[in-house]
Amino acid sequence: MQLKLYNTLTRKKEEFEPLDGKEVRIYSCGPTVYSYAHIGNFRAYVFMDNLRRVLKYNGYKLKHVMNITDVGHLESDADEGEDKMEKAARKENKNPYEIANYYTEIFFRDMGRLNIGKPEIIAKATEHISEMLEFVKKLLENGYAYETSRGIYFDISKLDRYPVLSNRNIDDQIAGARVDVDTEKRNPYDFALWIKAPENHIMKWESPWGLSYPGWHIECSAMGRKYLGDEFDIHTGGVDHIPTHHENEIAQSKGVTGKIPAKRWMHVEFLQVDGGKMSKSLGNTYTLDELEKHEIEPLAYKLFCYTAHYRTKLNFTFESAISSQKALNRLREGYLKHVNSKEEISNEAIQQYKSRFIEAINDDLNMPLAMGIIWELVRNDIKSEKIAKLIEEFDEVLGLDIKNSDKYISQQKKIELPEEVEDLIKQRTLARENKDWSLSDKIRDELKQMGYNVKDSKEGMTVEKV
Ligand code: AMP
Ligand code: ZN
Repeated sequence: MQLKLYNTLTRKKEEFEPLDGKEVRIYSCGPTVYSYAHIGNFRAYVFMDNLRRVLKYNGYKLKHVMNITDVGHLESDADEGEDKMEKAARKENKNPYEIANYYTEIFFRDMGRLNIGKPEIIAKATEHISEMLEFVKKLLENGYAYETSRGIYFDISKLDRYPVLSNRNIDDQIAGARVDVDTEKRNPYDFALWIKAPENHIMKWESPWGLSYPGWHIECSAMGRKYLGDEFDIHTGGVDHIPTHHENEIAQSKGVTGKIPAKRWMHVEFLQVDGGKMSKSLGNTYTLDELEKHEIEPLAYKLFCYTAHYRTKLNFTFESAISSQKALNRLREGYLKHVNSKEEISNEAIQQYKSRFIEAINDDLNMPLAMGIIWELVRNDIKSEKIAKLIEEFDEVLGLDIKNSDKYISQQKKIELPEEVEDLIKQRTLARENKDWSLSDKIRDELKQMGYNVKDSKEGMTVEKV
């Protein structure tokens, strides 16, 4: 079945054909590295990973760029507030570059734990200042930009259409409650391309307009164009990018090249918590480390993401994530039952599973449907090596590292025991060596009360968490 992907630009599912034969050029908006990425952010990258994997499964080669925003992302997407990097640096009493390096490293460590494929090109905003500057100069030259005392602004009235991606009605909004306070702007929805740096701003560069720094939107336009050309295949991000960041990226690119840079715009819906917004200010964001404290592996969180289509909201609760962990354990155990099993399954049956799986993933990455097919396969009464091989093949798309199931299961069995439990075990071993059975039983009961089951066998004593 031909791959179909939903395009926010046309609001339709469209058959996918790359612009350039077999290579697919993709740009993904990456993290702003001022803090730990939370599991909401990672829903966006799990989606990005699915897209990469489905394209590869369809035989395409990828040229994929993801940016690292290490300057210019202000507290509000609409050019208000402070640069997030500078604010974090002040709070942590560090240099913004140290902040960026620290959180970038942790971001990629977590991407690894989620088994997310790394884009071929990682582009840091601070390493592309000259490309961004050139882009702004070109916009000024082409009459799409103007200078104010705050910086260089994009003039949206110069475009044939704005917005093009979102449904928002600018006229209604201008007439409505939103009052713009910057009287130097020609239109309320004009946005900053380049920002003149206040005296105490650490990240700033020489420019024809004095020491200054880039706006957030310009980084993606300039870096996307540098690596992928004036037009490429797919641009991804979260739904929060639709009304401002991506709208403005399109405006900027049209001002320089006359073209909308990507043919398809794909957006992942939000992960919510307890039915509401996940946000740092509400204190309801969780990191992968926090999930691990509840014994939820990163890969179980990935499986949890597959319980909803990427274009629908997904509600996070610990109960549902724990269910995903149990499901992952069952998936691993179920897969292992097929490994090295010799029962006969027909090639037609295998082929049918395969075509249903391809149909699901090629229908705009329908992962919940694809998972349903995997479960049927795993639970098939016929235990066959052929099924194990097929699950491994499907895992090229799931990215759950199923072929290493053995390793995960044995790791789970090796629980870390608290020091006091270790002490009691030592005392009990000694008691048994001294044939002090009543002390041995007393310690066994004590351990049981603490939540540990003790089993004695010829090989010795084993302890399991109840
Ligand atoms: P940021 O680091 O804030 O620039 O965000 C990185 C990515 O995470 C962007 O693609 C956002 O759209 C996405 N994102 C942020 N919060 C959520 C959420 N709760 N659910 C899904 N994606 C999110
Ligand atoms: Zn971007």
